[in-house]
Amino acid sequence: MSRIYYTDAYCRAFEARVVRAFDHEGRPAVVLDRTAFYPTSGGQPFDAGVLGAVAVVDVVDVEGDVVHVLSSPLAEGAAVHGEIDWGRRFDHMQQHTGQHVLSAALVHVCQAPTVSFHLGGDTSTIDLGAVVSPADAERAVDEANRIVWEDREVAVRFASGDEARALPLRKEPARQGELRLIEVPQFDLSACGGTHVARTGAIGLIAVTGTERFKGGLRLTFVCGGRALRTLRQLRDSVAGSVRVLSVLPPELPAAVERLQAEGKGLRKTIAGLQAALAVHEADRLLAAAGAAGGRRVITEIYEDWDAVGLKTIASSLIARDPVAVALVAGGPAATVVVACAPSLGLDAGAVVRQLADRFGGRGGGRPDMAQAGGLSGHTAEIAAAAHALLD
Ligand SMILES: [Zn+2]
Repeated sequence: MSRIYYTDAYCRAFEARVVRAFDHEGRPAVVLDRTAFYPTSGGQPFDAGVLGAVAVVDVVDVEGDVVHVLSSPLAEGAAVHGEIDWGRRFDHMQQHTGQHVLSAALVHVCQAPTVSFHLGGDTSTIDLGAVVSPADAERAVDEANRIVWEDREVAVRFASGDEARALPLRKEPARQGELRLIEVPQFDLSACGGTHVARTGAIGLIAVTGTERFKGGLRLTFVCGGRALRTLRQLRDSVAGSVRVLSVLPPELPAAVERLQAEGKGLRKTIAGLQAALAVHEADRLLAAAGAAGGRRVITEIYEDWDAVGLKTIASSLIARDPVAVALVAGGPAATVVVACAPSLGLDAGAVVRQLADRFGGRGGGRPDMAQAGGLSGHTAEIAAAAHALLD
């Protein structure tokens, strides 16, 4: 069986014959006498496409055979016209060749070897065996793009294991026997079975989009070619959206967000102060209303927009002044309830709150005189009524 992509990565369509048809893990599969389909390996995903009218849904390397997993079976001996999904393949070629150039640049500039590579659906990653500073990593990216823009040849040749041992390969080859070597002249030489563009210029652009510490080294996330353009568009759209909302220029975005956060913090402080001041008046009003209702000892009230701190301020003010039991409920996407009981009543606010949390969901607890629960689901009026029944 011959692998067309070994010598011609640009072959998109080919004629072949089915030499073996079988089931692979419960799905129909074939081995062909020749194929341009790349099987998942070396960090690069498989090629999708068709064999005649049948879709190729996975391609795997099984003991030296390229196994094409199909949407429906093909007969042994059948002649087929194969076509690979060229958009997907060319994208993989850009990312994979970009990885060679970037990994080599990281060795040249930072002496940081690549220990693993993964080509993902949106971005790719390389893991470095050493930590490099952001500035050094950027210098390596500059160097990699210089090689891209010089449009150097990406040559493919084959060498025996003995020949290869004498060559300055970037990485010790993982396999024995004849090796396929990928060379960017005067820059990189490595053994690889993947698919690559013919000249570095076709990589277009190599851009690192993020870095993170990883197992004593550094993981770089990067995009090349078409993905770099797509990433730039996404960034442009999100920056344009933020700039419109905040009415600032793009370089001023971080400062504008910080300013908003500080303003939010200040406002929360102001609200807490206002709630504390208002709590005293609310306590007066509730006690007056309870007295007017014939000396009612259980007070319930709903404050849709208040927070737990505000509710507790009102509740403590109430039980400090009169022997009452209080349940105050605030709304929002998840309700909050504060229960307070004057000690002389001998009630347990904590137990009441736990019963409410059992019934309405949410979490809470507290002391016999003051307890609260949050995250309750249900109408505030319903929660207030249930609390009233428990306290009465
Ligand atoms: Zn490669």
